[in-house]
Amino acid sequence: MDYKINENLCQAKLSIIRRITDLAQAEKKPGDRVVLFSSGQPADEAIPLEMVKEYTARVIDKYGCEVLQYGGHKGYPALIPEIRRFLNKDGTVASREDDFVITYGSSEAIFAVGNAFILPGDRVIVEDPTYLNATNSFRYCGAVLVPVKTDPDGVNLEALEEAMKGGAAFFYTIPNFGNPSSITMSLEKRKAVHKLAVKYQIPILEDNPYGYLRFSGNEYIPPIKSFDREGIVLYMGTFSKIVAPGMRCGFLCANKELIPRFVVFKGVSSSGNINWSQYIITEFLKNVDMNEHISRISAIYEKKALAMYNKMKECFHPAVQYTMPQGGMFIWAKLPDGVRATDFCLEAAKRLKIAVVPGNDFFIGSPEDCSFIRLNFSKPSVEDIEYGIEKLGELTFRYCI
Ligand code: PMP
Repeated sequence: MDYKINENLCQAKLSIIRRITDLAQAEKKPGDRVVLFSSGQPADEAIPLEMVKEYTARVIDKYGCEVLQYGGHKGYPALIPEIRRFLNKDGTVASREDDFVITYGSSEAIFAVGNAFILPGDRVIVEDPTYLNATNSFRYCGAVLVPVKTDPDGVNLEALEEAMKGGAAFFYTIPNFGNPSSITMSLEKRKAVHKLAVKYQIPILEDNPYGYLRFSGNEYIPPIKSFDREGIVLYMGTFSKIVAPGMRCGFLCANKELIPRFVVFKGVSSSGNINWSQYIITEFLKNVDMNEHISRISAIYEKKALAMYNKMKECFHPAVQYTMPQGGMFIWAKLPDGVRATDFCLEAAKRLKIAVVPGNDFFIGSPEDCSFIRLNFSKPSVEDIEYGIEKLGELTFRYCI
């Protein structure tokens, strides 16, 4: 069959994360130890399994079959004020309850905004490197991606202004513990980015899945959305990293005039939302001390990040560069120039059965000579982290001569 597939879908990249993970697990023999540093999954021990069990029983007792019926396209009405309260604890992010639509994780919010704002050939400005699924989503919608370099304190403002001068459907940013770079945008830059967006009338798509997972440097930096009086910022959040990704519950907070458009999109894309997870998350937000819950899971991630960082210090070739993250789920490391991350990661997956992702595809141009690698510390156990980093360490000495 000669399938006629949408060209934009063909342009989107097959996930390197999946490929590397599969490779590390392929032909696994009894006794083989496989370690996955490739995904962005939460730790199993951070998922509140008992609470989910208890609340599932509770909501079914209380609401019966309604819990398993189709959910409304805008989301469960009782969840929205709870999210608003949760978001506004540290300053006003969401001014009205009318500003929300619930989505299947923030992935769907990204895709919804892409569909609503991008006409084929439109420019979309993104940090370089940035989240692969977002760039794939925008490519699928027909965008021409405009990469802007980043500094250690977030996007480079001069480069952003240059890019904005050329116009764009929006600017996509991950201000807290970016994926893959773990970079956090400073307060001054957030204000400046907001100003630039207003000056050039370019909406900001602010993606904040990791903001709550800060374990050191205890400086809370408010989201760009909290400076927004113009409705120029579309803010996305998710319960994937602080509750469980399998619940597929996230949200988009945007100007209320836009919400009906997204509600139509939700109807078309997924016929609404999952009632079960929305009902449970509503109960969580009402009854659980979220500060305490988030401190508990952040402590798990701090322990794992430290285990990874310390072991890297001990075992990696000194020419490899990286820093200890203050939150999020990743360490972004740079092998020396000239060392190809793809070769390194393919050998690690095939021979050592350790999955670590080459940085290439997180950059818009997918440079072949990319020497960055992304290591996830949230999912593997501390024992696996230590074992895996020791093995990778030996490999760095073979590649960094
Ligand atoms: N944005 C970023 C930057 C992410 O890293 C992720 C998950 N890896 C998402 C969005 C999507 O998360 P979800 O759809 O599970 O909410």
